[in-house]
Amino acid sequence: MTHHPLRTALLDSRVPRYTSYPPANRFSASVGPETVDRWLGALPDRDEVSLYVHVPFCRRLCWFCACRTQGTRTDAPLDRYLDHLAMEIPAVRERLPERLGISALHLGGGTPTLLSPERLDRLAAMLRGAFGAMEEAAVSAEIDPCECDDARLDALARLGLSRASIGVQDFDPKVQAAIGREQPADVTRTVVEGLRARGTTSVNFDLLYGLPYQTEPGILATLRTMLEMRPDRIALYGYAHVPWMARRQRLIPEDALPGAEERLALAAAAREVLTAEGYIAVGIDHYALPGEALAVAAERGEVRRNFQGYTTDRAETLIGFGPSAISRYRDGYAQNAPATGDWQRAVAAGILPTARGYAMDDAEKLTAEAIERLMCDGRVDLSTLAARHGQPDEGLLRRAARSISELPGIGTLEKGVLTASSGLYLRLLAARLDPSFAPDTGRFSMAS
Ligand code: SF4
Repeated sequence: MTHHPLRTALLDSRVPRYTSYPPANRFSASVGPETVDRWLGALPDRDEVSLYVHVPFCRRLCWFCACRTQGTRTDAPLDRYLDHLAMEIPAVRERLPERLGISALHLGGGTPTLLSPERLDRLAAMLRGAFGAMEEAAVSAEIDPCECDDARLDALARLGLSRASIGVQDFDPKVQAAIGREQPADVTRTVVEGLRARGTTSVNFDLLYGLPYQTEPGILATLRTMLEMRPDRIALYGYAHVPWMARRQRLIPEDALPGAEERLALAAAAREVLTAEGYIAVGIDHYALPGEALAVAAERGEVRRNFQGYTTDRAETLIGFGPSAISRYRDGYAQNAPATGDWQRAVAAGILPTARGYAMDDAEKLTAEAIERLMCDGRVDLSTLAARHGQPDEGLLRRAARSISELPGIGTLEKGVLTASSGLYLRLLAARLDPSFAPDTGRFSMAS
């Protein structure tokens, strides 16, 4: 059977997810504490920034997960971590302008809910001590339902939690056993009810397709159970099997993984159900109920993309705290030392714990915005964008035209406006706008 070139590209391609441009695999040690010191000091007075706190601990290490996290059975590392955050946060704050707005705060990980209520209160006090009451901030957190209780939900409510993200993956016990993560649907349901009772207005579920033993009837059953809880948002991600990067994934039975064609069928089946249930598709993999903030932002062309995926947060600067946290500044990206010990040593020595990053030139800033708009809106006016950046549009237009001629059906290019013909093709199209992407050499996850 011969495949259409676009379908072959979709099945075979390994392309970045473009949560940043350039992707994090291009970060280098050329960006260190001195650069970040300069970038922090250059923020305009009264600027709006968002904050990210990375909690790099989990009680159990799920086999499928490629997150930067470490298992801990005891609580001592959590206190050491908080002791060092108590140094890192003021060290960053003192480099920033005095007057600053905080538009969003996100707790990610790892498992933020591994922190006890007292520790969550301590973290809240540190952040408020540095950044004020943060009353305007949209507060969100990743929640592990198996590591959460009413007291933690109360502490998160005191922090002002308005949006929660819960990893579901799949409710089928056989699939859960094969990915090393058991999480009964009832436990998830109890936490969702607890969050909503405390004022969380948006609950997101992450659903994965492409997991071992996953079948179409199985994923549809998971969706039925999920939809009974009426999540406000659903992120439908393809499982990325990258055991050369995430060693835990070696425990996943590879022969039980669906093939490329089966992955496409699983994703298509899930998408069909979500659309039929009234969810609005946003970008490559998000679905939101009409009226939910992400759906509203999508309608207005105001969705942004950052390291947590799609967001309604519009701040240009995102400051990350904790090991491996990535910050975004107007001029580039900076990542903290990934290993907790290295991060702690730098912080204790009074040094900004930046290990690597990327400083963008003007042409790269244009490409970054073109890719972000494409990934968020499904279309981008390359010529208008280039004019706004004071940059020539030839390079982007040439790359866009080439992708359309090489992959018929991927989209259109008319009067400088590149439009993808489906959300399915956004990663492929974004990769072709990226001048450094080499389709056959990058070891990224599959585009499907
Ligand atoms: S899925 Fe969540 S709980 Fe499991 S290892 Fe990853 S971050 Fe930790």
